[in-house]
Amino acid sequence: MMKIEEVKSTTKTQRIAHHSHIKGLGLSEDGTALENASGMVGQQIAREAAGIFVDLVKSKKLAGRALLMAGPPGTGKTAIALAVAQELGSKVPFYPMVGSEVYSAEVKKTEILMENFRRAIGLRIKETKEVWEGEVTDLKTEEKDDQTGYGKVVSAVVITLKTSKGSKTLKLDPSIHENLTREKVAIGDVIYIEANSGNVKRVGRCDIYNSEYDLEAEEYVPLPKGDVHKKKEIVQDVTLHDLDVANAKPQGGHDFVSLMNQLNKKKKTDITDKLRGEINKVVSKYIDQGVAELVPGVLFIDECHMLDIEAFTFLNRALESTLAPIVILATNRGYSQIRGTDIVSPHGLPVDLLDRLLIIRTTPYNLEDIIKILAIRAQTESLKISEEALQDLSQIGNEASLRFAILLLTPANILAQTSGRDEIAKQDIQEVHELFLHAKQSSKVLEQQADKYIS
Ligand code: ATP
Repeated sequence: MMKIEEVKSTTKTQRIAHHSHIKGLGLSEDGTALENASGMVGQQIAREAAGIFVDLVKSKKLAGRALLMAGPPGTGKTAIALAVAQELGSKVPFYPMVGSEVYSAEVKKTEILMENFRRAIGLRIKETKEVWEGEVTDLKTEEKDDQTGYGKVVSAVVITLKTSKGSKTLKLDPSIHENLTREKVAIGDVIYIEANSGNVKRVGRCDIYNSEYDLEAEEYVPLPKGDVHKKKEIVQDVTLHDLDVANAKPQGGHDFVSLMNQLNKKKKTDITDKLRGEINKVVSKYIDQGVAELVPGVLFIDECHMLDIEAFTFLNRALESTLAPIVILATNRGYSQIRGTDIVSPHGLPVDLLDRLLIIRTTPYNLEDIIKILAIRAQTESLKISEEALQDLSQIGNEASLRFAILLLTPANILAQTSGRDEIAKQDIQEVHELFLHAKQSSKVLEQQADKYIS
């Protein structure tokens, strides 16, 4: 049985947490990189090139192509890719993954790639829904014998609503109005009924009977009492992957409303190519009709040299698709072997893929840039750091890596707090640096003590 992650995963948030200071590429009107803007410092040439890439995407001149960020670790490849997504729009999905993620014992490589492709394709759906709203004054259920003949099932819910335009009685199908029957809407509750979809959301008292159907708090929109049958524009942002997961075992038809209705139901089943094909068809139809708008996001594949020839072949093909995200690859490799072959090529990528790529280089930061980036990070994390400590930490960043220096900020702050100070001082930096090894130190230790480790 294939494992499918929950639709709302936290992995993504964790992965981009240390880029929370990045708000965009920090370019001026004419496309030149500002020294320090939108959380970005230095790396001007790469940022300007990324700005041109954004323009190409916006003018739709990039079909079938992708971007490659090439540079040493910790030189801002991820940060720039995230900034590209931000420059494309605030609702543009950014989905980061690492090349090695495609290797799993249970799931095919191409399946994992396909899933991530679809996580990075957003859809913005605008719907105008008819809404019945009012206070429940009466609620009856009608029952019939169940299939066994021994028990009863609810066959209809008859609900009377007091609305601003008088009383309305509605007879509802409990299989559509699931929430209504299972949550036991009580007399006196204010509810509204989406006339087209049949979803019932309750406002007001919420003693939820069955926790499985516990709707999220924000779904209880406190609407004013008594309005009836008003039109509500509902804008919803979903990804193609959300629709795949939600429709893995479709219960309704394949019309749009049914596709959307599946979203609230939690299921874990296989997503087949056939299902994806059908979802694509429905989605394309609704894009053509203007009900849905495609929002291609950014799929960021870090350490892309970890992919193998099979994955690259998939990538090549997938880039051609009309429903493709913007793909940004990143690598810190120069010439290396293409996995799954004995061919050595630039960045370990096959030539037919290289042909499709625009390449941006990132270069190591100088001490001044490192100081500025660390100061921004400290500020974003609401940490105080003395001038001296910042200098020392930057020096560490310069010798080891920027990423390592950023990682030391939080432990250094904990040390400061333990000593009753609210500002990171020189000695805190010194102490954490002694406590934690960075990769270069660690490999030196390994070399010196090779005989003590299992090889
Ligand atoms: P790797 O590919 O090895 O993961 P990377 O090149 O993607 O590394 P990042 O993870 O983007 O490097 O950078 C390390 C940290 O430094 C991140 O917190 C990032 O947000 C920050 N950073 C990198 N470059 C800049 C920059 N130019 N301005 C501001 N912050 C930056």
